[in-house]
Amino acid sequence: MFIQLIRRFDGSSKEELVDYTGYSRSKVNRVIQSLLDKRIIVETGKSKNTGGRRAVIFSLNGQLGLVAGVYVGATSIDLVLTDLSGRWLARSSEVAFVKDGPYKTLDRISEIIGQMVSSNGYTNEDVIGMGIGVPGPVDFSLGSLISPTIMPGWDKFPVVPYIHQAFPKAYVVVDNDVNMMAVGELIKGVGKGVKNLIFAKIGTGIGAGIICEGKIYRGTYGCAGDIAHICVDKNGPICVCGNTGCLEALAGGPAIANQGVKAIQEGRQTVLSEYYKRNNGSLTSIDIGNAAREGDAVAIEIIRNSGRIIGEVIAGLVNFFNPGMIIIGGGVSKLGNLFLSSIRQSILKRSLPLATRDLSILFSDLGDDAGVIGAVSMAMDMMFAAYADAPLV
Ligand SMILES: [Zn+2]
Repeated sequence: MFIQLIRRFDGSSKEELVDYTGYSRSKVNRVIQSLLDKRIIVETGKSKNTGGRRAVIFSLNGQLGLVAGVYVGATSIDLVLTDLSGRWLARSSEVAFVKDGPYKTLDRISEIIGQMVSSNGYTNEDVIGMGIGVPGPVDFSLGSLISPTIMPGWDKFPVVPYIHQAFPKAYVVVDNDVNMMAVGELIKGVGKGVKNLIFAKIGTGIGAGIICEGKIYRGTYGCAGDIAHICVDKNGPICVCGNTGCLEALAGGPAIANQGVKAIQEGRQTVLSEYYKRNNGSLTSIDIGNAAREGDAVAIEIIRNSGRIIGEVIAGLVNFFNPGMIIIGGGVSKLGNLFLSSIRQSILKRSLPLATRDLSILFSDLGDDAGVIGAVSMAMDMMFAAYADAPLV
């Protein structure tokens, strides 16, 4: 709590902390002393003279170390290295395949962070916090993935001890990628200051991160928000999970592309045939988006249909949870405004009027940065909570 205040205001006095928290002066003294002993905060000067004694100002100890935010996608690794004030020292993004397994992926992550650290004049021992977002269900208390569908070799893999081999002083937090993105939106994105929101990632997979009363809501084991396998049509196509008609199997990126291929095979008149030929017999959801922007009726119909299905599922969440904002992110959100307006229409049609009275439905404006921003923030909160022996998240 104190650290969150100091983080937010970047320099607070004892008196300000007493006023803001409502805690007793002796409790504030005790916490400040404990943080000073652990070198988490430092005295950074005196407040401006207002007549009486000038108060001592405390700030986070910027020299304490570095924090890395890692976002592992199905086909990418995004990384940022920051100091404790949240200032970015380095940022990278590269193609990598999570299906190559944990050893290759985590070794590469350690290698990139190692390079960032040394090029800024530090050593691996200076990394004191690390947040890692991964595209699968995470048992948050263990920091391990549990039966991830697209991540062979990762099931129950001990990510935290493995990372500790390279970064022995880092407090490591592993969480689902969508939870990290939701926190990123809350900290620096369109969701800043919104107490209750749902971040829906629509990409190769589909998932939702839930911010409840200003904090990420993980549920009992960490898999709250896993909306991918909600059944929307029991006569629908078979999903990677083995069931039929899941949301992901009907409206995820590959499903959108497959509907384009199906339309071509049925002999429908569409410019998608040209994209198909150009790509040597394949389509992506991005092709469908581009064809729709050209005014192609088949592509427009596919996007409207996917938006409607996603909107229907989100409408259920809106009625159940009554959020103030829905943020749509992930690769498929690049389909554009037609996609967003179809989702919006469907949500408004299916939700209670009271639940949608002030509901904002927006695209993410952080893009690929949401995951790394959330990872850094989550690592800092958990790290400080552990150091200060006070639960923050
Ligand atoms: Zn499924």
